[in-house]
Amino acid sequence: MIARVSLEIALRKEFDYSIPPGLAGQIEVGSRVQVPFGARKIFGTVTALAEESAHANLKPILKVIGAQTLVTPKVLKLARWIGEYYCCAPEIALKSVLPEAVRKEASGWRERLFVRALPPAGEFPKLPKRQQEVWNIIEERRELPFQELVELAETTAATVRKLEDRGLIEIASEISERDPYAREHILPSQPLPLNPAQADALEKIKEAMNVRNEECRMKNAETKPDTEPTKPVSSFFIQPSTFLLHGVTGSGKTEVYLQALAHALEQGKGAIVLVPEISLTPQTVERFKARFSSGKLQTLVAVLHSHLSAGERHDEWHKIRQGRARIVIGARSAIFAPVEPLGLIIVDEEHETSYKQEEAPRYHARDVAIMRGQMENAVVVLGSATPSLESYHNCKRGKFALLELPERVDDQKMPRVRVVDMRQAARGEKGTPIFSPQLKEAITQRLEKGEQTILFLNRRGYSTSLQCPKCGYVANCPNCSLALTFHRQEQKLACHICGHFEKVPQVCPNEKCRNPAIRFAGTGTQRVEETLAKLFPQARIKRMDADTMKRKDDYRKVLGDFRAGKTDILVGTQMIAKGLHFPNVTLVGIIYADLALHQPDFRAGERTFQLLTQVAGRAGRGDVEGEVFVQAFAPFHPAIQFARRHDFTGFYEQEMEFREQLKYPPVSRIALLTLKGRNEEKVKFSADHLKRILESKVQGPKSKASPGGAASDLGPWTLDLVITGPAPAPLLRAETFYRYQIMLRTRAMSKLSQALAEIIRTLTLPEDVSLAVDIDPVNL
Ligand code: ADP
Ligand code: ZN
Repeated sequence: MIARVSLEIALRKEFDYSIPPGLAGQIEVGSRVQVPFGARKIFGTVTALAEESAHANLKPILKVIGAQTLVTPKVLKLARWIGEYYCCAPEIALKSVLPEAVRKEASGWRERLFVRALPPAGEFPKLPKRQQEVWNIIEERRELPFQELVELAETTAATVRKLEDRGLIEIASEISERDPYAREHILPSQPLPLNPAQADALEKIKEAMNVRNEECRMKNAETKPDTEPTKPVSSFFIQPSTFLLHGVTGSGKTEVYLQALAHALEQGKGAIVLVPEISLTPQTVERFKARFSSGKLQTLVAVLHSHLSAGERHDEWHKIRQGRARIVIGARSAIFAPVEPLGLIIVDEEHETSYKQEEAPRYHARDVAIMRGQMENAVVVLGSATPSLESYHNCKRGKFALLELPERVDDQKMPRVRVVDMRQAARGEKGTPIFSPQLKEAITQRLEKGEQTILFLNRRGYSTSLQCPKCGYVANCPNCSLALTFHRQEQKLACHICGHFEKVPQVCPNEKCRNPAIRFAGTGTQRVEETLAKLFPQARIKRMDADTMKRKDDYRKVLGDFRAGKTDILVGTQMIAKGLHFPNVTLVGIIYADLALHQPDFRAGERTFQLLTQVAGRAGRGDVEGEVFVQAFAPFHPAIQFARRHDFTGFYEQEMEFREQLKYPPVSRIALLTLKGRNEEKVKFSADHLKRILESKVQGPKSKASPGGAASDLGPWTLDLVITGPAPAPLLRAETFYRYQIMLRTRAMSKLSQALAEIIRTLTLPEDVSLAVDIDPVNL
């Protein structure tokens, strides 16, 4: 037998290997193997088995990794789709579907020595005192880890071995599973009685799950012809199997997920729950574990995310593969978890940009979820308080079904949002204050009443730039086209793109100037914290951003203290914007709401609307009505005004007009081609070259009769294709590389991906210029 193997080094090609007799029967499609390649040993995945090969003298496979196929045929199929749609080499797509810890097998299973009492054989011997003491412990526990026994009995390994010699016990190594949540004590929770909106949403989801389940049964029946005849398939395709659950913050979406998950388990199926990395807090995981992992169901929920150790990730993944864990909760890459059979996929906060991977394969986990759902007859539920325009548009087009939870549970009111015009606050004072008088007053009131405040600014550091008022010098990063941020506590200037940092100059570094009065402009979270401490010396203040959250436990500690009421004011970046639920928070202040509006990206308005709505949702989650202050220099911007009124549909309609006019997503789809290199001229030249190739291959010849151009040889879909650029990337230089971009917009992305793959195959670029293809980019 021959195995076709996709190697882990990007060659865009598969290679044939022979299966040595020793490995016969162990190798299937999806097996991870190690093979010789030149002088090296390389990992790869078996993608097909064959009787014969076109090549002679095949080398044999060296070894198989894991007792079970690691990539299931279904996940393999999904990886293939990712390679095609996202225009990347299949081996790169394949690599991303297994966690590194599983792929390399480096962490493996942890084996520990265990001591076990053996059944008595004849008369129990009289033991010396020490041995008898050790035996007493073993007898009581029946089985325990060797090391634990030695510590417990305050004895030596030699004494324990003597019991083994007497045939009383057995010492053997056993696999011991790492459980990242072993230390947590989680109280089991019961399903809550749903309010009518929740009940209606759950009902529709369950109905769709039943239909898909029936379909699966029939599909299986088709392959086994001797079972009973089945109903015609056509009647089942009436209803979409992707739902958008649009529910305001605190409307009880999670409870709907939990009960839908229970239904999947009842059907004998498993499920995947995706949450953004940032909201994978212990609090979130606990809610799922509490419902499903209590009592006998200990390992029903597996967790996959980047804060686990390699060993923990290895073990969690195998729990899923072996079918012991039926529910997986994790960040982006958990969408590839080998759950089988799969009944339900939930994507919480579906609008989150972190679902998009920013390196190849540049997949969007939400879109992969929808594709996987289709492939495996699973129902997909996307949830959000601020859906992406893409998903909401798909509801309007009838592709998804819309479910709405318009009110907070228990009739809690939405917080009152006040927009403060910072242009007025700036008048009269020197410079712009960080806090408007209104926000200052509101904080004072909360401190007096013992209520808590969250202050949000999506910019870390102390100030955004260092500037000389005399000569105009600005401290820029030597590697990126970006000003350096001043970090006061660390006394350094740092680049937030490449990590470069340097000492803070005492005088202007310009040789001819040397002005000692250099100035720091712009505000970051450090400065907010410092100013706050001056204004409210009695307040207990904590800051939460990438600079203060360096260790794994920092996050838990700061939030724990806040929850316990040991902190009055929490200052933070987007880290505090999501999913947190603190009943005593009655005030939220957004220091500078326009920040996201100034991004050179067509989604700037959408991002601002989402961020304001999410942050505002942190206020008033308890009995007291919440209040939100939004400080803005463009207070009348629609994104801010619609967020103030909690009006998602209003925002959607107005924003769609703009997208329609400019043919931006969701009206079309984008492929963004970025060329980068250290020599700007070469990058620019290569970009122009690529543009000409694109025009000749995917765009028909332009004629006077039809100014848009005629359809190219590739078919009529190219008629609506728009190619713009090349243009310098919004951040022209990053990490010493210059970047130029070409943007393509089309409705037929699968076709464009195909055409692009073909063009890239034959494209020659200078050695020091590289091309990245990003399909459906979320950041320009
Ligand atoms: P969302 O996910 O939409 O932000 P949550 O699911 O976190 O909302 O719900 C907010 C709070 O309301 C939680 O404490 C949850 O336990 C509670 N809750 C949800 N549904 C109900 C219900 N039907 N009855 C009572 N409390 C509920
Ligand atoms: Zn830099």
